[in-house]
Amino acid sequence: MLIGGIEAGGTKFVCAVGDESGEIFDKVIFPNKDPDDTLSEAKQFFDKYSIEALGVGSFGPVDLDKQSGTYGQVLHTPKVKWRNFPLLSRLQNEYSIPVYLDTDVNAACLGEYKYGAGRNVNSCLYITVGTGIGAGLVQNGKLFQGKNHSEMGHIFVQKHVDDSFAGSCPSHGACIEGLVSGPAIEQRYGKKGIELIDNKAVWELAAYYLAQAIVNYYVILSPEKIILGGGVMKQEKLYPMIREEFTKQMNGYLKIDNVDDLIVAPELDDEQGVKGAILLAVND
Ligand code: ADP
Ligand code: ZN
Repeated sequence: MLIGGIEAGGTKFVCAVGDESGEIFDKVIFPNKDPDDTLSEAKQFFDKYSIEALGVGSFGPVDLDKQSGTYGQVLHTPKVKWRNFPLLSRLQNEYSIPVYLDTDVNAACLGEYKYGAGRNVNSCLYITVGTGIGAGLVQNGKLFQGKNHSEMGHIFVQKHVDDSFAGSCPSHGACIEGLVSGPAIEQRYGKKGIELIDNKAVWELAAYYLAQAIVNYYVILSPEKIILGGGVMKQEKLYPMIREEFTKQMNGYLKIDNVDDLIVAPELDDEQGVKGAILLAVND
């Protein structure tokens, strides 16, 4: 069965055609402009194939509450042209096949759980540290959802005593996203993360905050794997720094058998989002 998958990101769309086994037969990547242009570019790609279902992992926030009158709509996104856009119904009308919608980070979590770093465990948390911060949780093959999707990037952590940055989140200032997302790092130092590679203090502070967030997630959810992805985590030196800081902050409270095995990098080479999107359509 041919299945379509869309990783609908704020900056770019990844569209792929694949199957239940996780194989991808064709893939395109193009920038996310306004909804009409971007969705017609996606349609042109999928029209070459007879896909039988479509899974979409979308940037957000997006309304996933089936009881809500705005179910399937993009909500209050900074991308103004997408605000209140009825993504799910538009795709259902355009494709006339079953369409499954979830968040981009939930899709990525499902992809890593099934085929990547989470393939040997029953529960895993996938955290992306990129333009925003978000996390998804899979347990026994199912993504966690409450009334709507969780927003784990907007938790509060303790400010470092030497950090005077007010934070970049428009809603909360210094939530974890406001302190350590890519744009937060750029605002704090006036330079992009990629230009700060050799500045040890930058990554020590990032590890300090990310470890706090992970301690919070861990004590609440107790996942068997914590997979850290996203652009900021391309700084691979962050992994050992975060593990060390996590152990320090946990302070022996919970027994962690092997922190190297708990906090890990993704394994799907930037394809977890689109492979997970395809799985949204398979798993139903
Ligand atoms: P998105 O979150 O939009 O899907 P990414 O996960 O690629 O995209 O995250 C983009 C953010 O990650 C940007 O703010 C960028 O500055 C930052 N970033 C990308 N590459 C690196 C890198 N090698 N080192 C540090 N930060 C990076
Ligand atoms: Zn916030």
